[in-house]
Amino acid sequence: MSKGVGVDPMTGEAVRTGTTDIEPSLLTITRTMSPKELPPSSKLLFGRNFSDHMLKVRWTEASGWDAPSIEPYAPLSILPSATVLHYAQAIFEGLKAYRNPNGMATMFRPDKNMERMNISAQRLALPTFNGNALIECIRQLIALDRYWIPKEPGHSLYIRPTLIGTNGTIGIQPPNEALLFVICSPAGPYYPQGFKPVPLYGTTEYIRAAPGGTGAYKLAANYAPGVIAQKMAAEAGYAQNLWLHGPEHYLTEVGTMNLFVALKGEDGVIELVTPPLDGMILPGVTRDSVLTLARNHVSGKKRLAGLPEKLKVSERPITMGEVKAAAETRRLVELFGVGTACVITPVERIGYLGSDVVIPTGEDGMGPLSKPLWTELTGIQTGEIESEWNFVVTK
Ligand SMILES: *Cc1c(COP(=O)(O)O)cnc(C)c1O
Repeated sequence: MSKGVGVDPMTGEAVRTGTTDIEPSLLTITRTMSPKELPPSSKLLFGRNFSDHMLKVRWTEASGWDAPSIEPYAPLSILPSATVLHYAQAIFEGLKAYRNPNGMATMFRPDKNMERMNISAQRLALPTFNGNALIECIRQLIALDRYWIPKEPGHSLYIRPTLIGTNGTIGIQPPNEALLFVICSPAGPYYPQGFKPVPLYGTTEYIRAAPGGTGAYKLAANYAPGVIAQKMAAEAGYAQNLWLHGPEHYLTEVGTMNLFVALKGEDGVIELVTPPLDGMILPGVTRDSVLTLARNHVSGKKRLAGLPEKLKVSERPITMGEVKAAAETRRLVELFGVGTACVITPVERIGYLGSDVVIPTGEDGMGPLSKPLWTELTGIQTGEIESEWNFVVTK
């Protein structure tokens, strides 16, 4: 596991951890006096219910990271002049804990989230930290709130680490006070009634990211401007928007997910394409996991039943023109979004410049590549398939 030290994708520079770092041995735990009633698993809606406790770690420029604390889930107290409220000095992460068949709780690849969180922090001049130390604090939070991980198959506990600038001086500068907190929300399966391919609206009116911008970082500021594009897509009858970039209409991301396209090449070989990490794409953990599984299949390290015998895996730019041409010549195999919340979402059509590009979908909604990839990935996440990607929370 990495030490929580990453490399900034834009500058290539190592991200360093702070001076007085997060120290898990100083963690204090204050239990709630009034535990909440667990919501029935069948009624869970994403991000509506939160577990009994939260983790907090304060930081000041003068003394570094304070002792971490686990406290009852409660409102935060910050000054109205806190910089997060004025200049969006905020970053976040999203990962999941699962309860596996023998009762063990695990987190999926938390080291990747810590690495990315440090890279995002550095981009906003927020304090960085030792990723392994924060994982240990989160582990203790999840262990305490483990009853909040729903037992039903496909359910999980969504973990939301957040870091905000809290100093109360409304000048634009690196914050000299910050607060890192972690909250947890029980989540149901994304497809309670089987896979449902979604229609996307190809957004050409707005952009999510630009070269040299902040699209590759998980900054809160990247999301508020996207709400209107999402609203426009919904009003036009589409489930989500597809962010297209530049006059070429490069496919970049699906709402807040990375995307993959599968096409049949001239030689008949199927190519699995995802846009490259060029500074406009969020380096998703699910994206990385799907790429790794597909490449392990190709190399023979681990063949996945159901994936095409021959497969080409590419990180390369892809335009709407190419997707449309492939659809028209029946070479488009499938298109899907990937992210922590949904794992894999198949797409059935894209509204593009006034008409729909129809995407093939399999009988049960998933396509010939997404189905075996989803089966393997969720098998690992739920602990049915053993993998070094699972981090043990409690035995
Ligand atoms: C979080 C996020 C993703 C998915 O990342 P995962 O680590 O796979 O959850 C993709 N795109 C955007 C814009 C995101 O914010």
